[in-house]
Amino acid sequence: MPLMRIPYTAPLPPPTIIPASASTSSGALAALHDFLTARPTHTSGNGKTVLLTGAGISVASGLADYRGTRGTYTLNKTYRPIYFHEFCANHEARKRYWARSFLGWTNLTRARPNPAHYAVAGLGDMGYVSSVITQNVDSFHPMAHPSLRTLELHGYLRSAVCLSCRTEYNRAEFQNDLAKLNPAWAAFLAEMLESGALTTENPEERHRCGLKTNPDGDVDVPGVEYGTFRYPPCPKCHADPPVGADGERKRVEVDSDGAWLPSSTAGVLKPAVIMFGESIPGAVKTAAEQAIDEASRILVLGSSLATYSAWRLVKRAKESNMPIGIANLGGVRGEDQFFGNVAPSNTGKFAVRCAQSLEKFLPGLVGVLQEGSRGAFQPAPWATLFR
Ligand SMILES: [Zn+2]
Repeated sequence: MPLMRIPYTAPLPPPTIIPASASTSSGALAALHDFLTARPTHTSGNGKTVLLTGAGISVASGLADYRGTRGTYTLNKTYRPIYFHEFCANHEARKRYWARSFLGWTNLTRARPNPAHYAVAGLGDMGYVSSVITQNVDSFHPMAHPSLRTLELHGYLRSAVCLSCRTEYNRAEFQNDLAKLNPAWAAFLAEMLESGALTTENPEERHRCGLKTNPDGDVDVPGVEYGTFRYPPCPKCHADPPVGADGERKRVEVDSDGAWLPSSTAGVLKPAVIMFGESIPGAVKTAAEQAIDEASRILVLGSSLATYSAWRLVKRAKESNMPIGIANLGGVRGEDQFFGNVAPSNTGKFAVRCAQSLEKFLPGLVGVLQEGSRGAFQPAPWATLFR
């Protein structure tokens, strides 16, 4: 069955903290220490933890979270993400998408991994983590820990991909192509950057400048005519139009400046993110399931598991009796199902639910684990004889 990315907008109940001592920062650190260092209860696992991360881990990088602590879209109340079928079917919807993406791109490329991502790198270096599955499309995980495996469940913004031939193109270079095709927009963007409207991380200040930033890093400018925006075709399909299933060669037509024309039947470029209503590629789905199956426990960081694709991975872990940990500021979809049978004696070994801000908490966790491993290390008694 194909797995689709679908948004979930129902309100989420506040969390029940597990164990109760994890309601303080030090209590949560102690609980997660026990969680990560516990002897595996899941006999077939690799002894390590698989991490599942969401927008909450990127908030400190200046990127908007989809949800506030009460699980509703917060930053931009009128925001509605584009659906895959709209993008594929509608030239006007694509103009609007690429115009907003064009304006938001500079802001996104200025954002960097934050201490939480580097703490994940630290956990990997210490041997606690076997892989990271992320719902984020900002590429911060692979930037912060290139040697610890990252599976990007919902794709990534760093590339554009052709809907016809699946060739990927560097998004930064694509930005230059968009600027050339849209000089008035490029001038407007330069003006916005000059005014500081796009560089401030304060949403209220942005609002005063007439901008709204959305969770995928794009920008809304009220009153702007998106219909004037132009975007280029896939260069490969333009040079050599593909042949359709009916054996007929497709058409890729452009205007005098090289912008894609709606008389074309191929060569549309899309961001390499999995849009809402789009299926997650089979290979990604399988790799994520394998990452769950090979691990001994799962720790969710900064995700409300609002998208089914992420929620079902935790459910899969639950079905094979893996210990589950969740660190997320707000409520999590269906979390009572994950923690239904936790014994009162649990100190964190079998389950943890805490609600901490990750950019301080995760580096703290790395520190606690480092201290713990130093404390456990005793030099052999004979070592002193040779000093
Ligand atoms: Zn193509």
